[in-house]
Amino acid sequence: MEKTKIKEIKTVIVDIPIKRPHQFSTEKVSTKSFVLIKLTLNNGVVGIGEGTTPGIWWSGESVETMKLVIDRYAAPLLLDEEPEYIERLLQKLNRQIRGNAFAKATVEMALFDALGKTYGVPVHQLLGGLHREKIPVRWALASGTPEGDIEEAKGHVHSGTYAHFKTKSGHDAPENDARRNIRIAEGIRGRSTIGIDPNGSWDRISTMKWMDAFFDAGIDFLEQPLPPEDIEGLARLSAMKKVPIMADESLASVQDALRLATEKAADIFSLKIHKSGGMKNTMKIAGIAEAAGISCFGGTSLESSIGTAACAHVYASIPNLNEGSELFGPDWLADDLVKNPLTTKDGFLFVPDRPGLGVELDEQKVEEYRRKEEKGVLI
Ligand SMILES: [Mg+2]
Repeated sequence: MEKTKIKEIKTVIVDIPIKRPHQFSTEKVSTKSFVLIKLTLNNGVVGIGEGTTPGIWWSGESVETMKLVIDRYAAPLLLDEEPEYIERLLQKLNRQIRGNAFAKATVEMALFDALGKTYGVPVHQLLGGLHREKIPVRWALASGTPEGDIEEAKGHVHSGTYAHFKTKSGHDAPENDARRNIRIAEGIRGRSTIGIDPNGSWDRISTMKWMDAFFDAGIDFLEQPLPPEDIEGLARLSAMKKVPIMADESLASVQDALRLATEKAADIFSLKIHKSGGMKNTMKIAGIAEAAGISCFGGTSLESSIGTAACAHVYASIPNLNEGSELFGPDWLADDLVKNPLTTKDGFLFVPDRPGLGVELDEQKVEEYRRKEEKGVLI
């Protein structure tokens, strides 16, 4: 029997509009960019994957760097290789390309989709099997005003789309951020709760001052309040035993996970496929968390239904995903790249059960949103 081999790898950048502008700590965005990868095997199967980042400010990678790294460096290393040797192929990429976790995760996603389609099983079966078939999803409130956020949260709770929420902070001074979040938490008290994510923009003293007030306001968690490198600061906040501390930007590699666990610097790990270089690494990180008694939260890089499906397969396979997820990407985007977009119902996302990632690419949408030209240069 002819061996299955990787025959072709192609990428394209797409820009998809979002429903409303989203305020991060550093920028406001109105479209989301993705690098879409198609990996064709000699058996005719086409695996798809997508790479996306919150922005170049988050980790230093962008869709443009991912496309270049995949086209120029990763693809030549993978052509003519057997996709079944996925662990060995990832090791090959790691030895020859330093860093670039988001680009590597994109390649791995397409490999898993192609393998799942070849074997006729959903990706979660390749990852060890399901622990749950649906995942709770938090919606991110980012309207820009506390009144807008309270109204938006109440609307979601009333209609049954989302039950709990996360807010973005860091755009304002820590004290103003803290007051705004407490106001939101009190505005929805008794009906719902929030977690706070300042994306590493607060400092130790400002954060410590507000921990009692956050506890009193019933804040669910404080996600990455301090800069990524301040592990000792996170450990001090965790030791206060007020609001659970979640590590996001401080956690990317399996080595980061081990250090955070050893130094007792987090109560919760925010998992993300892209920042950790793929699904396999994310599972390894969840294993370290499990051994250390740390809970996991299913983070998002704001993926379309393709990346969200990949996250769902991973998160559904992790026993200690005790804090739910924020897999609201497809709902946040104004359009999608697949014919069967993922949706949330009653605050839950259902894990696809078709072979591979379980989503079918819509070529018309890809053509519609394909980036044609940027500053006179075709990409
Ligand atoms: Mg975060």
